[in-house]
Amino acid sequence: MNSRSDVLVIGGGAIGLATAIELARQGTQVTVLSRNFQEAALHAAAGMLAPQAEGLEPGPMLDLCLRSRDLYPEWTSQLTELTGLETGYWPCGILAPAFADSSPRYTGDAKWCDRTTIHQHQPDLSPDIVGGWWFPQDAQVNNQQLAQVLLQAAQQLSITLEEGVSVTAFDTQDRQIQQVQTTAGPWQAQTYVLATGSWSQELLPIPVTPRKGQLFAVQTHTQSLRKVLFGPGTYIVPRQNGRIVVGATSEDVGFAAYNTPGGMQSLLAATIRLYPPLADYPLEGCWWGFRPATPDEWPILGHSPYENLILATGHYRNGILLTPVTARLIADLIVTGQADPCLADFSWQRFAPSSPSSEPFALAHS
Ligand SMILES: Cc1cc2nc3c(=O)[nH]c(=O)nc-3n(C[C@H](O)[C@H](O)[C@H](O)COP(=O)(O)OP(=O)(O)OC[C@H]3O[C@@H](n4cnc5c(N)ncnc54)[C@H](O)[C@@H]3O)c2cc1C
Repeated sequence: MNSRSDVLVIGGGAIGLATAIELARQGTQVTVLSRNFQEAALHAAAGMLAPQAEGLEPGPMLDLCLRSRDLYPEWTSQLTELTGLETGYWPCGILAPAFADSSPRYTGDAKWCDRTTIHQHQPDLSPDIVGGWWFPQDAQVNNQQLAQVLLQAAQQLSITLEEGVSVTAFDTQDRQIQQVQTTAGPWQAQTYVLATGSWSQELLPIPVTPRKGQLFAVQTHTQSLRKVLFGPGTYIVPRQNGRIVVGATSEDVGFAAYNTPGGMQSLLAATIRLYPPLADYPLEGCWWGFRPATPDEWPILGHSPYENLILATGHYRNGILLTPVTARLIADLIVTGQADPCLADFSWQRFAPSSPSSEPFALAHS
């Protein structure tokens, strides 16, 4: 038997690490079990903080995303203060250019720029761009840097981080988790947090499935791009160090862990159509990752049918954006026992059948 902690976080990606850090800050003794840090979507993502450019409908999900975007400046500066490392948080704004054949994607208070304005705003766009929307409050973080900052912060806060340990099963009794079985033997804690992203169904029958995204990067020494471009079929995310990250496909192909010529072709074509200069920049590499998707594209947060198991998964395309608010909501729930009212909208129970079942996780889809 491995040593007991107050809280055992399963999964050491964006959500698991940030939640562990928030718990440790509030005086909780935390262990994180991480099967493979490198497979986390945390590394693969583009790092856009884009509640508005993503075109989310008004409602609980948009509210949660806006709340998290608002937390970013303070959250990242606290992490930098703790570790001495930069996250690359950059409130650069996001521009969503449109072609004549683009379908209108935004309603509400999106700010439209006409043809003249947008080409002044961003030189070298395709001459076929007829206008676009400008979201000055949307931002980005360098998620590869953020990954290193989160690791370093976890170490400085004396969080026990067990890399290479996979949880294989829960041992349960009377709606309590007694212990988890792992590749390194059983592990116990008072409370458990499930933060296993796309792999959540390996442990529980919750409707989280992988949605593959392929990306590539180029390197440039010019500073011609100073804002994110969010176009049809592509987004272009310029980092402050001259690297430009371009994403992403969205494919329902399971855990197909490779780039494909077809995926890269569609991405390259959409990108060069939108921003032709990119065709000549040195290609740096390509990669892929798995977004943890749910049927309604909202995360699953808060209590589970097991009294001492908390869920923090299914963040789909906005998990980097939602990391600070998730960490805070989940840590507060565990430490105070009080659930923020917003958690009700993200409960696993929205996928449960209306008639009660004796099975803790009897879900509508299963
Ligand atoms: C191509 C792409 C682009 C994206 N772009 C953006 C973006 O621009 N903005 C944004 O906000 N979001 C973006 N996302 C989404 C974001 O990356 C994810 O929503 C977020 O990383 C999910 O975090 P997570 O911690 O739940 O999962 P992950 O970061 O995937 O981490 C899960 C971890 O759990 C571990 N694990 C799994 N099972 C077990 C087990 N049984 N035992 C122990 N450990 C386990 C895995 O090894 C992994 O390390 C993108 C994602 C992709 C793939």
